Amino acid sequence: MKPEEVNQSPEEAGEIRQQEQPKPKRSPVRKIDIFRAWCKGCGICVAFCPREVLAIDEAGYPYVKDLDACTGCGWCEIRCPDFAITVERRRKRREIGREDEKKASQRIPDAGE
Ligand code: SF4
Ligand code: SF4
Repeated sequence: MKPEEVNQSPEEAGEIRQQEQPKPKRSPVRKIDIFRAWCKGCGICVAFCPREVLAIDEAGYPYVKDLDACTGCGWCEIRCPDFAITVERRRKRREIGREDEKKASQRIPDAGE
């Protein structure tokens, strides 16, 4: 190592430091459905979305611009006067487990069991 390199930070000395990057959070929402036949293009859902997930297309109807940014708050769904938008949230693993247990307990055994 040269003497002038002694006081340099690893980055200055040309070392690339691998930093632990936080894992990007997955959106709690699986999909957002916009039922075009019921939508009148009022734009309320777009205006109320706090994360700019929704935008208006050239025809004046909303579309999902950035699903990953959606927090699943449900404001768009609640505010739509025509029930034209639905937010489908991901189920948590423990919810799936509970449903499976419930189904198993309700199952009627086959004749041979
Ligand atoms: S659920 Fe919330 S964040 Fe997601 S699109 Fe609707 S208003 Fe926006
Ligand atoms: S609030 Fe409902 S009717 Fe209005 S643009 Fe959004 S989805 Fe369409």
